[in-house]
Amino acid sequence: MKKEDPSSLPSRTGGFRSLSPAVWRASTVLFDSVADFTTRKERLFDGYTYGVTGTPTTRALEERVADLEGAKHCIATPSGQAALCLVAMALLSAGDHVLIADSAYGPLRTFAHDYLQRFGVQYQTFDPTAGAEIAELVKSNTKLIFLESPGSITMEMQDIPAIVEVAQTAGVRTVLDNSWASPLGFQAIPAGVDVVVEAASKLLSGHSDLLLGTIATDDRGLYEKFRTAQSVLGQAVSAEDCFLALRGLDTLELRYAHQCDAALEVAMALSEHTLVREVLFPPLPGNRGHERWARTFTGGGCVLSFVPELSPEPKVHRFFDALEVFLIGASWGGVHSLAAFYPAKELEKRAHCRITDGIVRLSIGVEPPRKLITDLDQALDLAAKA
Ligand SMILES: *Cc1c(COP(=O)(O)O)cnc(C)c1O
Repeated sequence: MKKEDPSSLPSRTGGFRSLSPAVWRASTVLFDSVADFTTRKERLFDGYTYGVTGTPTTRALEERVADLEGAKHCIATPSGQAALCLVAMALLSAGDHVLIADSAYGPLRTFAHDYLQRFGVQYQTFDPTAGAEIAELVKSNTKLIFLESPGSITMEMQDIPAIVEVAQTAGVRTVLDNSWASPLGFQAIPAGVDVVVEAASKLLSGHSDLLLGTIATDDRGLYEKFRTAQSVLGQAVSAEDCFLALRGLDTLELRYAHQCDAALEVAMALSEHTLVREVLFPPLPGNRGHERWARTFTGGGCVLSFVPELSPEPKVHRFFDALEVFLIGASWGGVHSLAAFYPAKELEKRAHCRITDGIVRLSIGVEPPRKLITDLDQALDLAAKA
């Protein structure tokens, strides 16, 4: 141990073991010699150089998520949106063309429109129910296809295996936002997708108390580009948040199983309700996208949407005000059930959206499903009567 080295902590951990990972905080990483210091960049990908690319706590999380995804590499980012933007920044250059599912996470489409275009990248949204016919949209300068299936809010399913085949033939990389299914519902890397992004703020961490994203890939070259971009763009992640996400992952399978079963029960009850025009939830038999979901995915999700038969809009507001168990809030995937409203005018911005009325989106938590169904029933009835 050199000089006054406060990192002598490991020598004091003899005889101590616990079930929790250590929270290693650091901006500075110490080096044994100046030779180690001057060659530190060589260890950017496989070692530790500076706090921005993480500490052993970050690596523990990245390894756990890589394992879940069935991927060789993973990078933790400050949020799901940061992960999506980092992938675009690392892989796109002026003159490139990118395809984005029309129902992809809204801020990704905004990033493409307001920033990527400014940097000379052309972008185009495509029908989120697309399959092999996406080949017609692929140009000689197309570099990436951003998929999200089912899509945010409107729940369209893309035919991922068909799109992957088109992309591989054309030499285009695919990126899937897999936040809805999580790797428990769909392992996209073994299915041939190049890059998988998770909004770990949602199901993976599971308690609505932190922001985190992950990027997984099998491709060493892509991994190195992402790690470099993370460093250059300063996308640091707090070790505490990694610790909390690791703790959340301990219960992921239990939460996921309960939340998916409960979401299907709620979806079935809603589909029989006279004040519900349409339920949007691919795991529901007969739903649009059900066949694709059943063929490709191994699990469901805890987020569903429905179009209420409540107009004019003030009636929808009364529905939300009457909810007692569901709380009103964005984000999803945590233990508390949440409800959010997307008015028709927000959906109008999409070029390929079949739905022209406001949509209610529910995130199903760990409460007993009966209690949730009763809450929805009473709120719908009250809103219709008022
Ligand atoms: C929430 C969400 C994101 C963004 O994740 P944040 O961690 O909130 O930035 C990305 N994609 C989907 C599908 C999401 O629901």
